[in-house]
Amino acid sequence: MRSITILGATGSIGESTLDVVRRHPDSFQVFALTAMSQVTKLAQLCREFKPEVAVVGDETSAAQLQQLLAGEATEVVYGEQALVQVSAARQSDIVMASIVGAAGLKPTLAAIDAGKTLLLANKEALVVSGQLFIEHAIKSGAKIVPVDSEHNAIFQCLPELARQQIGTMKLAEQGIDYILLTGSGGPFRQLPLEQLAAQTPAAACQHPNWSMGRKISVDSATMMNKGLEYIEARWLFNCQPEQLKIVIHPQSVIHSMVQYIDGSVLAQMGQPDMRTPIAHCLGLPERLRSGVPGLNFSETGALTFSPPDFARYPCLQLAIDSCWQGQSATTCLNAANEVAVEAFLNEQIGFTHIAQVCARVLEHELPSRIDSIEDLLALDSQARQWTRQALEQVNNV
Ligand code: NDP
Ligand code: MG
Repeated sequence: MRSITILGATGSIGESTLDVVRRHPDSFQVFALTAMSQVTKLAQLCREFKPEVAVVGDETSAAQLQQLLAGEATEVVYGEQALVQVSAARQSDIVMASIVGAAGLKPTLAAIDAGKTLLLANKEALVVSGQLFIEHAIKSGAKIVPVDSEHNAIFQCLPELARQQIGTMKLAEQGIDYILLTGSGGPFRQLPLEQLAAQTPAAACQHPNWSMGRKISVDSATMMNKGLEYIEARWLFNCQPEQLKIVIHPQSVIHSMVQYIDGSVLAQMGQPDMRTPIAHCLGLPERLRSGVPGLNFSETGALTFSPPDFARYPCLQLAIDSCWQGQSATTCLNAANEVAVEAFLNEQIGFTHIAQVCARVLEHELPSRIDSIEDLLALDSQARQWTRQALEQVNNV
């Protein structure tokens, strides 16, 4: 029996994780579930999974949850410090990091520092802290397993030795030429470019293949998601620029690939359903049933591939450039994107403004070195402030 904490239990990844956990009552017990403000949904999950602790964002939500859970043994706590504490608590072996955005950084790092098996969905946490994140894992001996479908696919296609060296592996020494990240191109892949500016949040959240939270759905439409994944892959697989490529694959059947020096390409395929990578991470080294049916190749149709069009996806170019520019750039880009996407979802800016705002934020002079998490968080706040200024500018032109 292994004990699991799910950070962001009420989200899309949280739900998929609990769906897999529900299928294996003899293998997993839930230690803690966390949410921000969806109290009713969290209460339902607590009644079903009976965690020892439930965490919410603030005191008001905690009081509501407490009331809904009257008679249950679950302890209700709230706030960032509580999140950090449950992440590090000795009662759990596995922490699923599935809070959205940089808000997940501190609890994710707390799980790493406590040496947990960390199932990483919260890519923004790695994007904003890169080298420091990896250094914390090396120091504590935490085991990081990638949940993001592309990174999980790559992980599955890597040699055994490389899988044990997350963040430090040497791809060339493992006979690997490069990694190929696939991306569907999102809902606007074929839209005439001049129509992009008028796209609404509802249209941007209509992903052709995957069902996900709203922020990552917009990131998929701009392909900032693939950009963040590019940065995520750079850190997880210790890539050099020539070892990381992106290919558009609209059917989302192949979830990513590894090109070996002998000409072999290993690919992981499956349905576009996050329960597959989640079950893979939860089951290691064994395989678990996830509830996801196999692929039916007589219905899959043609699998097609093309290079990304950077005129359609300027966010992708910004992310690739930031990745090799350094930590300050990726921290600022992530913060700018989080603020801009929220403004877009609240209908304060248009779809194409997201890339413009991010580009403006990156024009600021950035620190050349960052040595601590405190400095990272200070830069993250500064970048959010620059973004709010940039939002006003794009709205005034
Ligand atoms: P959702 O928006 O569906 O869920 C986010 C979760 O985080 C919710 O439980 C939410 O609580 C909680 N949360 C939000 N803000 C805060 C905060 N400030 N502090 C604490 N908790 C917070 O997101 P997804 O599940 O789609 O994505 C989660 C992460 O996984 C993201 O980093 C995303 O990039 C990554 N990911 C997602 C995939 C997917 O298919 N969805 C695929 C690959 C990666 P509440 O519900 O109360 O608001
Ligand atoms: Mg992904």
